[in-house]
Amino acid sequence: MMTQSFFALTGKVALVTGASRGLGQGMAIGLAEAGADVIGAGISEMSETREKIEALGRSFYEIKADLSEPGAAKQLVEKAVSEVGKIDILVNNAGIIRRTEAENFSDEDWNDVINVNLNSVFQICREVGNHMLENGSGRIINIASMLSFQGGLRVPAYTASKHAVAGLTKSLANEWGSRGINVNAIAPGYMETDNTEALRANEERNAYITSRIPKGQWGKPEDLKGPVIFLASEASSYVNGHVLCVDGGWMSS
Ligand code: NAD
Repeated sequence: MMTQSFFALTGKVALVTGASRGLGQGMAIGLAEAGADVIGAGISEMSETREKIEALGRSFYEIKADLSEPGAAKQLVEKAVSEVGKIDILVNNAGIIRRTEAENFSDEDWNDVINVNLNSVFQICREVGNHMLENGSGRIINIASMLSFQGGLRVPAYTASKHAVAGLTKSLANEWGSRGINVNAIAPGYMETDNTEALRANEERNAYITSRIPKGQWGKPEDLKGPVIFLASEASSYVNGHVLCVDGGWMSS
């Protein structure tokens, strides 16, 4: 097989949550560059993502979904399958972060983070998983974090949710691996997006973080294109239940 076709996603449909900006936008564009049509789902409008994907000659479908709402995952997946016909690749990317020291962390912040970062991820995996099991194939890529391994500071709900996303990924990989579905995760390091704006605005934290990254710089959404194409494509057919760090070496330092 030629290397090119190993990574080709021609004819595939990818559902990417939170595709309006940041890492979700970068991965959606990467998947389209490899040949996939993309369904973007989320609360923010996605005209920029649409323009970039349509400029590549691929189709982009937008579905409004507030993943903090109960029942949103089921509705989203039903709508995606009825409008587009199928889902071959799922990227669970939408996520939020709330920063407060643990002793003052409110129930509201805790529940908001767990709802979006964990509950909706499981529910979308379950709904899309049923669809993929019927088709006998599929790729699920959950977005984990360095805080799937480490504790972080002032982000207890985020850390708990991202540790759980890593565990959920392995649990689903065990159940579905022999039935045609690979379930893996990408753990991005420190990436320049809205999610990390507060960290980058804090000069001292920014300098410390940057000094600990062996590559010497924060990552960018484009840095996830190659890894997500790999995990969505034929090239990774025997990779299952893995959490792939894309972190400029952070976990090694
Ligand atoms: P971002 O804030 O730029 O984008 C988040 C996306 O999720 C947006 O499209 C937003 O509209 C969507 N979203 C938020 N709440 C939603 C909801 N209730 N329903 C539907 N969509 C919703 O953040 P980002 O940095 O691009 O983060 C994307 C993912 O990567 C998140 O899961 C985040 O935890 C993870 N991550 C980010 C970093 C980083 O350094 N930026 C590092 C590790 C992991």
